[in-house]
Amino acid sequence: MIPAHNDSRSGECGPDLGQGGESDPAARLRFSVDAADGSARAGTIVINGRRIETPVFMPVGTAGSVKALPPHDVESLGATICLGNTYHLYLRPGAEVIRGAGGLHRFIGWNGAILTDSGGFQVFSLQELRRVTAEGVRFRSHLDGSEHLFTPESVVDFQFELGVDIAMVLDVCSPYPASHSDAAADLEVTLGWAARSRDRHRSAVDYTTTALFGIVQGSVYEDLRRHSARALLACGFDGYAIGGLSVGEPKEAMWEMTEATVAELPDVRPRYLMGVGTPEDLIMGIERGIDMFDCVLPTRNARNGTAFTSHGPVPVKAARYARDFDPLDPECDCLTCRRHSRAYIRHLFNAGEISAMMLTTRHNLHFYLTIVRRARRAIMDGRWQIFAREFLAAYAEGDSAATQ
Ligand SMILES: [Zn+2]
Repeated sequence: MIPAHNDSRSGECGPDLGQGGESDPAARLRFSVDAADGSARAGTIVINGRRIETPVFMPVGTAGSVKALPPHDVESLGATICLGNTYHLYLRPGAEVIRGAGGLHRFIGWNGAILTDSGGFQVFSLQELRRVTAEGVRFRSHLDGSEHLFTPESVVDFQFELGVDIAMVLDVCSPYPASHSDAAADLEVTLGWAARSRDRHRSAVDYTTTALFGIVQGSVYEDLRRHSARALLACGFDGYAIGGLSVGEPKEAMWEMTEATVAELPDVRPRYLMGVGTPEDLIMGIERGIDMFDCVLPTRNARNGTAFTSHGPVPVKAARYARDFDPLDPECDCLTCRRHSRAYIRHLFNAGEISAMMLTTRHNLHFYLTIVRRARRAIMDGRWQIFAREFLAAYAEGDSAATQ
């Protein structure tokens, strides 16, 4: 099990020793599993003096802002880590401005941890506007059409410049559906880039405090997913993400791929299921041993007028809520629910008031953050299965039960 390359400064990709502690030269991030109940687990990530209890939900702040809610409000909800996006921050405002501000934490006024996605997903969403070369991926800005090149190294360097706590490698996100051969070809590029990213990261060991996660790809093919996970492990990362899911494939395929991937990953590293998902998905993911989640659903749907509640989604703009003076979720203790009714929030949406989006976003994020907090407590107390079953049953009952 002792690898040939065990020196963080060797400048070469080296296998994951699975230590995760201080003796691991790559451990700028420390992760411990505090309790497990079946495959579900409660853990703690410590990085740069910041403590993140898992399972964790990371609110999405793509352009350095969780839409409709200022950073201090997001912190007050108990969020310990939020997401930024390399592609968006690189194009606007750019590295120079953020460096001038003293890093991304200071620029956006956020005291918690920050994880930045590599931008791979966004670049590969551009379709006509990008071209993959041996070097990296060349693309045109969706803002002004200007041409740019992302290489695995430049993307890692940019995230170092932002001073984020967790950086993600540049990857190729296969579209869905993709043939096995196309997905395999995309995966080979992704793995080559992952090795280059890891080498770049190791060579920066003296000056960066940023941890680096690898991203498992392989579309809906179990052999590719397993191969991807093993190859990333041979490289050695601070944590492992499962990418390229929730892109249109059936839910069963998403969970099959998650299970196959988790089976290959070491217990001592955090596992991050990217871009997932609904409240039910959080439960299903935790059940399968996932530690970290991010998704735009709670914030995006809030702005569109949908509140997530203990009894399913509430489309609060609907006419039937016009005289409904209950809170969005009678079981919720967030500031929105303690003070305001569905009827009032519906009125705010109808009147085009910005506060409609703010109040609903606050509730939705509180709801998501409460799910993972309660899940953690249930795992610690050895009653995960009961919690999961009760949550899913109440959620599936639907809003009609909540309004009667
Ligand atoms: Zn609420």
